[in-house]
Amino acid sequence: MLINPVEFFRNLPQKECPVCGENIQEQAESYVLECEGCIAKKLD
Ligand SMILES: [Zn+2]
Repeated sequence: MLINPVEFFRNLPQKECPVCGENIQEQAESYVLECEGCIAKKLD
């Protein structure tokens, strides 16, 4: 059975920020678990 890789990645669940539930844009820094807003609050 062949799986189209584009379809495969499209079906992956979106990352969600565990703090506020925002969807997280995939970034180079994939170790980041929280959204930009929550990270900014922490640094404040
Ligand atoms: Zn957040």
